[in-house]
Amino acid sequence: MAATDHVDFETFMNGVKRRNSGQTEFIQAVQEVAQDIFDFIEDKEEYHEAQILRRIAEPDRIVSFRVCWEDDNHCVRVQRGWRVQNSNAIGPYKGGLRFHPSVNESVLKFLAFEQTFKNSLTGLPMGGGKGGANFNPKGKSDSEVMRFCQSFMTELYRHIGPETDIPAGDIGVGGREIGYMFGQYKRITNRWEGVLTGKALEYGGSAMRPEATGYGAVYFLRNMLRHKDEDIEGRSAVISGSGNVATHAAEKIVQLGGKVLTLSDSDGFIYDPDGIDQDKIDWVKRLKNERRGRISEYCDEYSGAEYHGDGARPWSVEAELALPCATQNELHQEDAKALVKNGVVAVSEGANMPTTLEGVKVFHDARITYGPGKAANAGGVAVSGLEMSQNSERISWNHGRLADMLTELMEGIHEKCVQYGEAENGYVDYVRGANIAGFKKVADAMLAFGVM
Ligand code: NDP
Repeated sequence: MAATDHVDFETFMNGVKRRNSGQTEFIQAVQEVAQDIFDFIEDKEEYHEAQILRRIAEPDRIVSFRVCWEDDNHCVRVQRGWRVQNSNAIGPYKGGLRFHPSVNESVLKFLAFEQTFKNSLTGLPMGGGKGGANFNPKGKSDSEVMRFCQSFMTELYRHIGPETDIPAGDIGVGGREIGYMFGQYKRITNRWEGVLTGKALEYGGSAMRPEATGYGAVYFLRNMLRHKDEDIEGRSAVISGSGNVATHAAEKIVQLGGKVLTLSDSDGFIYDPDGIDQDKIDWVKRLKNERRGRISEYCDEYSGAEYHGDGARPWSVEAELALPCATQNELHQEDAKALVKNGVVAVSEGANMPTTLEGVKVFHDARITYGPGKAANAGGVAVSGLEMSQNSERISWNHGRLADMLTELMEGIHEKCVQYGEAENGYVDYVRGANIAGFKKVADAMLAFGVM
C-alpha cells in the first residue's frame, strides 16, 4: 500500500466541514474525537496509510424514507425517517431510534458516530448505528403513536435484522413504541427474532435494560470517584431530564446514599431542597410513563419544591455531582463555569454529548472529574448486547446476574479509559481515554479488512 501524506488536524477538520456542510452536531462530534486520535496515531503509519479516521467519519450508509400516517382526525401526516449505519467493523450495527421534532440527519450522524466508539468500549461485538424520525410523540394518542410506529417499521424492516442492524430506544422511544414496532416487524416478516432491544420481559426483553443506562452512568461516576478514593455517599447531585435515563440515574444515586436536588424537561426544571427520594422518583416515573405529564406538576404534588420555567436548566443549583441526562448540547460554557464555581467535583453524562466542546474545556481546565457520555452511558447498549445474546440462545438471565454483569462492564469501560487517559500527574482525561480505547479496536478491525 502506498504511503499517504499525513494531513494535519486543521486540514482534516476543514474537509469534514466541507463535506458535511451545516451539520453542526456531526462536525462537533468528529472534532471531539479527532483531536485525541490525531495525537494517538501521530507515529502509527498504518492508520495513516489506510486513512482510517477519514473512513470512520463517513457513515457506511444512510437510509432516508417517507413515513405517512393518519391522525385521529383522519388527516394524512408525512414525516421523515432515517437509519444511519455508521460502522459494522466489529459487529452488526447497533444503536437507538429517536422520535423528536429536532431529529435531522446531522443529529443522527453524530449519534451513530458516537455509538461506534461507545459500542467498541463495551467490549461486546457491536457496530454503530442510529435512527429515528422527526415525529413528536408528545400530545399524540396511543392509536396515533401505534399507527406512526407501524408505518415507520413498514419501511425500516428492509434495512435491519438480528445479524445486520438491531435498533433500540432513545428519546421518545420507550417500551410502548418498541412494542408497536416489534409487533409490526413480526407481522411483516412472519419471524420472531431479536431485531430490536428494549423489549418488554413478556416478549424477549432483558431484565435490567430499562435501568441500565441511568444505573450505568452512576456506576461510572462511582468508579471515577473511587479512583480518587472518594465516594457518592453524602453528596448532592443535580440531574437534568426526567425520562428513562434521568429517573434511573436519580434512583441509583439515592440507593448509594446521595441526595438528588433537581430533575427537568424541555420546559424547565424542579429544585427540591429536601431531596428527591425513591417515592418521589416513582411518582415522576408514573407522571412521565403513564400520564405523560410535565415536570412542573411535581410542585403541585410536593410543596417544598420550586419550579423554574422558560426552558431553564438546573446547572445553577449548588451541588457536588452533576449528571446531564436529557439531550445534546444542554450544558454550555457558562453552565460549566457555574457548576465549577459552586464546587462540583464530578460530572457523569447519562445523555449523549450533553456538554458543548467549550463546556468540556472548562471542566478539564478546572481538573474536574468528567465522564463523557460515550463511556458513562454505555451501560444501556451493553445490556442491549446482553439482550441480543439471550434472544440468540433463547434464554433469559435473572436480574441479579444482569446487575452483576452491568457492574463489571462499567468497571471494564472505566479501566480502559484510565489506561489511555491517565496523565503523569494522575488526572484522568476520560474523553481522551474513551476516544482512543474505542477507536483502536474499530481501527484494527478495519485494517484487517483491507481497503473497503
Ligand atoms: P426520554 O425520552 O425517556 O427522556 C428524555 C428527557 O430529556 C425528557 O425529560 C425530555 O423532556 C428531555 N429533553 C429532550 N429533549 C430536550 C431538549 N431539547 N431540552 C431539554 N430537555 C429535553 O429519553 P432517554 O432518557 O432515553 O434519553 C435521554 C438521553 O440519554 C439522550 O441523550 C439519549 O440519547 C441518551 N441515552 C439513552 C439511552 C437509553 O437507554 N435510553 C442509552 C444511551 C444514551 P421532554 O419530555 O420535555 O421532551
